[in-house]
Amino acid sequence: MVLRPVAPRRSIRILPPAIAARIAAGEVIERPASVVKELVENALDAAASHIRIHIRGAGLLEIRVTDDGYGIPPDELPLAVQRHATSKLPDDDLERIETLGFRGEALPSIAAVAELAIASATVDTPFGRRLTLYNGEIVADEPVAHPPGTTVIVRRLFENVPARLAATRNERAEVAEIVRVVRRLAIAAPAVRFALWLEDRLALQTTGTGELSTTLIELYGPILTDALRSLGPLEIAGARVTGLVSRPDLTRSNRNHLHIIVNGRWTQPRTLLTSLEAAYRPLLPRGRHPILALVINVDPCAVDVNIHPAKLEVRLHAEREIGQAASELLRSVLARTPRCFVFTPPTQLLDPLRSTPTVNEPDTRYDEESPDAPIITPAFPPMHLLGQLQKRLILLEGPDALYLVDQHRAHERILYERLRDAQATQPDPALLPEPILIDVRPADVERFASWLDRLTTLGFHCEPFGPRSFLLRAIPALPGVVAGSDPLFGIGEPKELGPSLLTLLDESDTNEDWRDRFLVQLACRTAVRRGRPLPRVTLRALVEALGQTSAPAVCPHGSPIVLRIEADALASQFRW
Ligand code: ADP
Ligand code: MG
Repeated sequence: MVLRPVAPRRSIRILPPAIAARIAAGEVIERPASVVKELVENALDAAASHIRIHIRGAGLLEIRVTDDGYGIPPDELPLAVQRHATSKLPDDDLERIETLGFRGEALPSIAAVAELAIASATVDTPFGRRLTLYNGEIVADEPVAHPPGTTVIVRRLFENVPARLAATRNERAEVAEIVRVVRRLAIAAPAVRFALWLEDRLALQTTGTGELSTTLIELYGPILTDALRSLGPLEIAGARVTGLVSRPDLTRSNRNHLHIIVNGRWTQPRTLLTSLEAAYRPLLPRGRHPILALVINVDPCAVDVNIHPAKLEVRLHAEREIGQAASELLRSVLARTPRCFVFTPPTQLLDPLRSTPTVNEPDTRYDEESPDAPIITPAFPPMHLLGQLQKRLILLEGPDALYLVDQHRAHERILYERLRDAQATQPDPALLPEPILIDVRPADVERFASWLDRLTTLGFHCEPFGPRSFLLRAIPALPGVVAGSDPLFGIGEPKELGPSLLTLLDESDTNEDWRDRFLVQLACRTAVRRGRPLPRVTLRALVEALGQTSAPAVCPHGSPIVLRIEADALASQFRW
């Protein structure tokens, strides 16, 4: 449940001039969507649980927002439409803002560029009151029957501002922006019921269950059912971070679906977004972005909201720290989620002349365990090994899906993490049964020699041997490449160790990133190749070791390791 704390209602008053002067000024109402945003924010601040929005003529003809919040007492209504009149800054404390609004500018700004009618009633007043304003002047004032809550109707927007009217000629774009704004507000307030009508069509609706996942599914459609992974909760720098992200195979081509909610406010903190993108970039296909809702709650003093006229940006005091922790969280969740295989309808029937893939007869010679024992790892559900496919894929059956694991990339991920851990813990290097001779071009001898000390810190013991050769004597224990008795024995490519070390010659001595690039290279070159038949016991050991890694779904280059074919997808393809 994500419930937004809502401040109790206070009386409206005109802000002291000194405070009004400190408020980030600027044009608030730029397009129809800005009106929608301001009116809905007012409804949310009034603790509404149900907000209805009606739009006609892209918002230029009419915008109507009705809420069931605590309303405005009749005697305060004329104040509500005055400049710098607000009920939301009781202590003049701009450093501690707990509401979405605080400037007292929205209603008068709208009234200056449109016809505005506001009708409101509270539980304590038998009658409501309605004010109608045109060009900023009150033109009608009458009692009205209204249930507790508020209705604001804005008509003939920008009729008296020809430049604005000209700028909003593209109705489709304005409607799209309104939908985007309402979607953002609904994500920021999952406990509130939203309904948006465009002309007379219900365009968007949420049920206000308080569950962010339900809200996202209601807004994006059932495609998100079972496709959201939760993030957190995480406590960092006084902030509590939670959220949801779509599976790596469910992505979008733009950043419009990255929702960052800070204290109930949808915002775009730039540093944080940059850091999040850097985290998901290597894990998603090029140019794709996830659907993401990240909810950050901090003490109101730890965030500055008074920096942008339309309140689109906020300044989180610990933004860098929170961003880094949230990015790490996002990375680890995406890196653990196997790619789902999406069926595209076949363009032709199976060609009987082309050879069909065969499942290799598993080699059971080394089988010690019962072949049916499930493989249990932290990363995957219990899986049964079926066999090897096309000498390059490991085929497994999980509770509700079939899994295909790329044997090369799985081994690569295992080796990479082993190497990475080795440099952190500096375990005893494993002596190679036979040292490996590395020949270096005469011109490169000196440069290669200059890397030897740094190689030793990684566990690679290499020494000069004659004028232009080196001997590699020991390396970190790499399962399958050198380590003695493990079930991966002998599947890797130890002869690639020498050539991998030579890639250091392409690195600059000063660049601190060389280490990671070198480890990625080394893991890739020494991992088992595709095309190699593997015994069952090895297939098992690969999956077991992969399931222990921190990012079993993607190889260190960012390519998928695991493909998941859901039972539902099979059922729909076979039309069972
Ligand atoms: P702000 O939201 O910055 O205070 P506005 O001009 O948007 O400024 O609104 C002025 C005041 O009118 C608010 O402070 C609030 O007291 C009252 N108000 C506006 N809309 C509503 C609403 N939907 N429900 C209850 N009170 C409202
Ligand atoms: Mg407001």
